Amino acid sequence: MTIIAFIGLGNMGGGMAANLVKAGHDVRAFDLSDDALAVAAAAGCTRAASAAEAVRGADAVVTMLPAGSHVAAVYKHDVFPAANPDTLLLDCSTIDVGTARSVAGAAGTAGFPMVDAPVSGGIAAAAAGTLTFMVGGSPGAFARAEPILSAMGKAVIHAGDAGAGQAAKICNNMLLGATMAATCETLALAQKLGLDPQTFYDIASVSSGQSWSLTSYCPLPGVGPDSPADRGYAGGFAAALMLKDLKLAAEAARSADAATPMGGLAKELYQILVSAGEGARDFSAIIEMLNGRPAGRKHD
Ligand code: NAD
Repeated sequence: MTIIAFIGLGNMGGGMAANLVKAGHDVRAFDLSDDALAVAAAAGCTRAASAAEAVRGADAVVTMLPAGSHVAAVYKHDVFPAANPDTLLLDCSTIDVGTARSVAGAAGTAGFPMVDAPVSGGIAAAAAGTLTFMVGGSPGAFARAEPILSAMGKAVIHAGDAGAGQAAKICNNMLLGATMAATCETLALAQKLGLDPQTFYDIASVSSGQSWSLTSYCPLPGVGPDSPADRGYAGGFAAALMLKDLKLAAEAARSADAATPMGGLAKELYQILVSAGEGARDFSAIIEMLNGRPAGRKHD
């Protein structure tokens, strides 16, 4: 049995830690929120009084925290001082590439193998154990991390050295944000040109305009497979989290001197949506903003 310290048991971490327990690991949980800790304890985790207490004596440490500042602080103040030599460190949070690389560098200097392992898939996938992990780190660290991550996901892919997991994650989500925005404005235009939404869907889904945003996550209610659009854009992937990822992509593009005008425009569109108080809705709700009215209503 592996002893795993799990820090950050929120929407995502709670389900992930529960899956580690189901896989037979001894999971020692810490979160600043008592409510999150109570849910983790009900799922079979052992409550720790502090992050350092969770980490002490563990074979591996998993973190699932909001942003880079939390990750840098937790590793510096709680994990590095308390962990046994050679403890495997896995950060599954979505953070900026620069912080991921600097925390991994500090881990290496302190003698800890570390991977950045952000996820694709939302709260439902975290609970079901069907996340996709994109992993950055040395081949040796990846080999040790792979069985732990497999207990929480359906796919674990080695993307390259430290920071490569975060780079893959923000590139994927920039592509998704830009594709969703383009899909939404196209569906709005199709309707305004008098095309029946289902008919246009049937055509585009077998033509060169096809994309995951259209055929797996159609932003129009009643068209395509079941998606958040069919539930008033509740649940799914929050627009505020898409905006977070698009900001990380813009920051990475600046530091790499890369031109990303489509990603930049998607970021501005999601900023308008979030500023309008719609950040908690699924990111496909941007169709209502681009359409100028609730999606799925007949144009008159
Ligand atoms: P969340 O806010 O629900 O959970 C984060 C948890 O971290 C909270 O319970 C908070 O109390 C805890 N926390 C913060 N600082 C801490 C500290 N210093 N010590 C211990 N605990 C601390 O967020 P989430 O939705 O679970 O997302 C976590 C990460 O996963 C984020 O980086 C997010 O971008 C990423 N992500 C989220 C989704 C999603 O659909 N929610 C999907 C993919 C990736």
